[in-house]
Amino acid sequence: MSATLTEAAVEYPKQRRMYVEGEWTDAIDGNRLDVINPADESVLASVAHGRRADADRAVAAAVKAFPAWSKTTAYERAKILKTVADLIRTRADALARTMTMEQGKPVPEAKAEVMQTADTFEWFAEEAKRAYGRIIPPSVGTKRHMAISHPVGVVGTITPWNFPMALASRKIAPALAVGCTVVSRPADQTPLSLIGLFECLADAGIPPGVANLFVGSSREFADALFEEPAVRKVSFTGSTEVGKALIRRSADTVKRMSMELGGHAPLIVFPDADVAQVAQAAVIGKFRNNGQVCISPSRFFLHEKIRKDFTEAAVEFARGLKMGNGLEPGTQVGPMFEAKALAKAQELVDDARANGAAILTGGARSTRFDKGYFYEPTVISDVDRSMRILNEEPFAPVMPLLGFDKLDEVIAAANDTPYGLAAYVFTNDLTIATRMAEGLEAGIIGINDPVPATPQCPFGGMKESGLGRELGVEGLESYLETKYVSIGLRG
Ligand code: NAP
Repeated sequence: MSATLTEAAVEYPKQRRMYVEGEWTDAIDGNRLDVINPADESVLASVAHGRRADADRAVAAAVKAFPAWSKTTAYERAKILKTVADLIRTRADALARTMTMEQGKPVPEAKAEVMQTADTFEWFAEEAKRAYGRIIPPSVGTKRHMAISHPVGVVGTITPWNFPMALASRKIAPALAVGCTVVSRPADQTPLSLIGLFECLADAGIPPGVANLFVGSSREFADALFEEPAVRKVSFTGSTEVGKALIRRSADTVKRMSMELGGHAPLIVFPDADVAQVAQAAVIGKFRNNGQVCISPSRFFLHEKIRKDFTEAAVEFARGLKMGNGLEPGTQVGPMFEAKALAKAQELVDDARANGAAILTGGARSTRFDKGYFYEPTVISDVDRSMRILNEEPFAPVMPLLGFDKLDEVIAAANDTPYGLAAYVFTNDLTIATRMAEGLEAGIIGINDPVPATPQCPFGGMKESGLGRELGVEGLESYLETKYVSIGLRG
């Protein structure tokens, strides 16, 4: 194991504070919060940690800045956002190391997230120039009709710890690009990555109050957003449970809501697929970020003809994954992000074992590390619906294997969940691929593609996995209001 890494190892961000009205600022009461490195449990940094009064200041700054920012042109805004993208790319190596140290994922995964954040800023900077309205033919000769797009207003964003930069960028970039102002809150466990992004925004010349960062109490932040009528939209990524509570709160002031919630993605393998190749892709997809990914495959449906071969290959690949501190070259699986996550993984595996599942590899906290939240990549079979792992979103490095015979049967089983975020299908048969894409209840479907997310395509869930879409033109539209203007002409 590498030596404990402390704040001195963090090159970016330079700041350990909130960003309000163009100033880096401490909490009003001076409170601070320790950020823990999940690879060695050391204190990595201490950041300002605010309360309601800090959140109110950040919201007030965004409200004050909205009239001027909303009147800038898409071209002026794009110039700043493209500079943000450039700064992120210039600082990418340092930002990726910071993300690894606070979140745990290996550096190459962190670097990919940082680069996707830059791509997201660039794409929305360009796309906002095409936020066209419509001229609508009138049915009366003395009238003219048009539908014009208008920024929705002040936006609050709440994001989790698993993709601390990318998930926030899917909200901040389109909101700023169309002329909204924002107040963002990172998860307590991973504030440094978002502070790093805000340093790029500040250094790119974003005007004071247009983008504000609050680090602190999630409940008090939510109160500040929901009790302020001028906040017109809240965009949340997190669990379905918290999402539902926030949707209820939105009723009082009829705020627009975007909800990116939990998932329980099926991965389905048909017998014509290349089994060894798919098993490797499935293992890499499953153990990416330790399964702590909303679109992580978490129910593996294997056609009976290839079930045995797939199982053997998957177990072998999972055993061969290199686990360790994400900063060490060659690491494929880092620590889970906190002790509670490790305990939840163990609970799910214990429950499955107690109900008859077979643990084919893993199944316990790794004994190879004195410190850090390392859980062995785990593959289990003989699972059924009596087990928690098939009913609850696992968010853990556990791969439950199931069998199937017929297409209709696997569609019904895959859809038998309140979630509908992602689904994966491996087949080279066009008819099967088409029937699956049409039959699966999921907002994102990867056919022979285990990593479908990209800035220009819509991302989001059906059923209890969410409301609305991020990324793509849909992700831009969700920060726009449509105003219909009807003009009556004289005589
Ligand atoms: P979570 O408990 O819902 O928390 C998400 C964020 O919301 C955290 O920053 C949390 O901060 C904050 N939060 C919690 N309760 C809140 C409240 N009452 N008011 C305002 N903010 C509140 O989710 P998590 O367990 O951290 O994250 C994992 C979940 O996110 C999974 O369900 C995963 O599927 C989902 N997710 C979805 C997507 C997607 O795009 N669909 C992407 C990634 C993750 P505190 O913990 O400090 O309270």
